[in-house]
Amino acid sequence: MSKILVVAEHDDGNVKKATLTTLNMARQLAEKRGASIDIAVVGSGVGGVAEALAGYGAETIHVADHADLAYPLASSWAKVIADIASAADADVIASSASTTGKDIMPRVAARLEAGMASDVVGVVDTDDGVGFRRPMWAGALLADVVIDSDVWVVTARGSAFDAAAATGGESAIDAFAAEPNLAASRTRFIRFDGTQSDRPTLDEADIVVAGGRGLKSADGFNQVVEPLADSLGAAIGASRAAVDDGFCPNDYQIGQTGKVVAPQLYFAVAISGAIQHLAGMKNSKVIVAINTRDDEPIHKIADYTLVGDAFSVIPELCEKIAAVKSGS
Ligand SMILES: Cc1cc2nc3c(=O)[nH]c(=O)nc-3n(C[C@H](O)[C@H](O)[C@H](O)COP(=O)(O)OP(=O)(O)OC[C@H]3O[C@@H](n4cnc5c(N)ncnc54)[C@H](O)[C@@H]3O)c2cc1C
Repeated sequence: MSKILVVAEHDDGNVKKATLTTLNMARQLAEKRGASIDIAVVGSGVGGVAEALAGYGAETIHVADHADLAYPLASSWAKVIADIASAADADVIASSASTTGKDIMPRVAARLEAGMASDVVGVVDTDDGVGFRRPMWAGALLADVVIDSDVWVVTARGSAFDAAAATGGESAIDAFAAEPNLAASRTRFIRFDGTQSDRPTLDEADIVVAGGRGLKSADGFNQVVEPLADSLGAAIGASRAAVDDGFCPNDYQIGQTGKVVAPQLYFAVAISGAIQHLAGMKNSKVIVAINTRDDEPIHKIADYTLVGDAFSVIPELCEKIAAVKSGS
């Protein structure tokens, strides 16, 4: 029987939403293939993560808990994930198409001589069996692909799948004797400089306020984007032009070469809507474009358009939101 191994993503002992969206994709695949699902939890001090996932319908949760796995270095994590997959006899290994998944999973595929479908947005039936739908050419088209090898590696786009709900029941938790072999790694972990913020993270936020080059400077970006994000409890994003021009940090970038998001509400402020930007946000549920021009590509996918100067309309919008909140 086919077995799907889902690689868990976690942060500070907490299960990330990316694990649950991957699990949802795995459930859809399991239904089509008649497969069972196992979960791999890799890291250091991750017993709590395994316990938190025990009610999600996996048969076995394999826990590779080792001090040398504290940081997800692709070389050591890929080895351990491939080892777990072989020991568990898994024929599909799935993870999120997050930065971590993109880093690690191609190495897992190489180790297992597996074909790989990356960034999948759907599980589909094709004339050649079960396949995967994935965007190509910056999302300009969707391709259905099948994998020919015996073992498959798949990464799932988080914004394309809902988070899997708990099913109840208890998975077996199995300690896996991990051998990360850090000494053989050509990379070494030095330190992690994380962004400290009280805002929701960009890829998990319900509301995103993104700013573009039209905001002219870092001061302009902060002056316009921050108050609107604050008033809505939103995450902040940006176009690549805004990042390249130094208005905001790199990890704000949304698009083909940045993050892919699909929040309930997306504000594109002073963003023209180049295809590479749309690739990262066009599946947002409601899109609001705020732009001085009314003929930019962003308007073609926007649900609401506000034509005006962001420097004057955003403060007005914030005042109106504050008034609604206070009930006046
Ligand atoms: C290989 C490749 C990968 C790329 N990857 C990405 C990516 O991941 N993400 C990404 O975003 N881009 C990406 N790009 C760049 C992309 O092509 C565009 O250059 C970029 O998205 C433009 O950013 P922008 O909309 O902020 O700037 P612009 O295109 O310069 O648009 C600025 C907008 O602001 C409006 N504006 C000006 N002043 C105001 C004002 N006061 N109030 C309101 N509106 C105003 C203007 O009318 C205009 O629409 C990539 C490009 C390549 C070639």
